Amino acid sequence: MVDDRNILPWQRHNWSLLSAYITQQRIPQALLITAGKGQGKRHLAEQFAQALLCANKRDDGYYCGQCHSCTLFHARTHPDFLTIIPEQTGKAIVIDQIRQLITKLGLKPQFENYRVVIIDPAEQMNTSAANAFLKCLEEPTERTVILLLAEQPGRLPATITSRCQKMPIKPDLQAAQAWLREKIPDQDVEVLLNMTRGAPLLARQYARDNIPELRNACFQNWLGVAEQRTDPVALAKEWQQLPDRLVLFWLTTWVIDLIKCHHQPQMASGLYNPDLSRDLQELAEKLDLKRLFSFYDLLLIDNKRIDTPLNKQLLFEELLIDWQQLNLR
Ligand SMILES: [Zn+2]
Repeated sequence: MVDDRNILPWQRHNWSLLSAYITQQRIPQALLITAGKGQGKRHLAEQFAQALLCANKRDDGYYCGQCHSCTLFHARTHPDFLTIIPEQTGKAIVIDQIRQLITKLGLKPQFENYRVVIIDPAEQMNTSAANAFLKCLEEPTERTVILLLAEQPGRLPATITSRCQKMPIKPDLQAAQAWLREKIPDQDVEVLLNMTRGAPLLARQYARDNIPELRNACFQNWLGVAEQRTDPVALAKEWQQLPDRLVLFWLTTWVIDLIKCHHQPQMASGLYNPDLSRDLQELAEKLDLKRLFSFYDLLLIDNKRIDTPLNKQLLFEELLIDWQQLNLR
């Protein structure tokens, strides 16, 4: 039976597989857990890690929560639990970190149980780190389980992925909705899940950070530019102070939705932003499809440019002036 105290409801299927690895004593040497941002990869990996480390596991493979190992795990001081993350958020995992890991793995685990390594996000290992890491998979050390977490597993070399068992976390919309309704009862759960492509943990974070309000304000301003009542240059100045990747992502989804509305009017269900369908539909009717596609091409280019050190205000200015022109008739 699955204990659901700490298992997230949309991960029950994953947990039943993981606990079966434990109860049947066929622990994979390396497991690749994949899911989009905000689906709880790290949480699932840590549940599995604690269960592997626990000295007093229950018959169903779940950890006891009380033994010495569990106590150390909770205090995040378990000597047989290693986490490799980028030294700075968004940066690469570098070869020095992997070399230190290899040195540690050369020693025996301190306790009688397994040793668990989490690498998160695994696709952030740069080429030399990934090459060095391959050694950990080719020459496994005893009682060691490596958990690789990835949002974009396609960015990992095939030499690594081919040596891992795969475990995707699939979004379970119903379970996610029910969980969110309980956690954030005063919020529009459906809108939040749409905004996060079905990622419950990210949706909860969005609610806490008032992201839907921010998106709605951006959308209204964007409509304002289309209707020639908002100054694109002033708006660009405002937007470059916001989370720029997110704003650019929203812009991109609005344009995709406009194109969809053009092709299939009255089809709110397939949209990125079904809650904005009325405004989008109205706007789509006024726009020239060919020019909309050129604008979409510009957005695709900017989605790549935004990661480079460039002037964000100029980027938004260019986009918003283009957007204003597109709406001039
Ligand atoms: Zn325990």
